[in-house]
Amino acid sequence: MIDRLGTCPCCGASWNGGDILDQIKKLDVFTHTAPSDIVKVARSMGWSEENKTSFTKLVVYEVDGIVVLECHNDRCKHVFTADGVDMGSMTEYREAKKLA
Ligand SMILES: [Zn+2]
Repeated sequence: MIDRLGTCPCCGASWNGGDILDQIKKLDVFTHTAPSDIVKVARSMGWSEENKTSFTKLVVYEVDGIVVLECHNDRCKHVFTADGVDMGSMTEYREAKKLA
């Protein structure tokens, strides 16, 4: 399985988007929200005091029925399967499909 909080094997960018609670606190939309309610929002995203999870920067979507994860780095944009198989860049993938 791919480590969604790891680093990209192609460009070395970190995919760790930071602690979910910390990141939510920074959002303008929650400026006037009670701290206890912000914790509830974080909990709804799988975060807890015991298991402080982080956001991933990987972009997740589906191509040809396969769930893929794309590196957020604009200079990389490599796409991986959930098992960590490098499918190359989405541009290369689409070009290869056209030629097939
Ligand atoms: Zn990358």
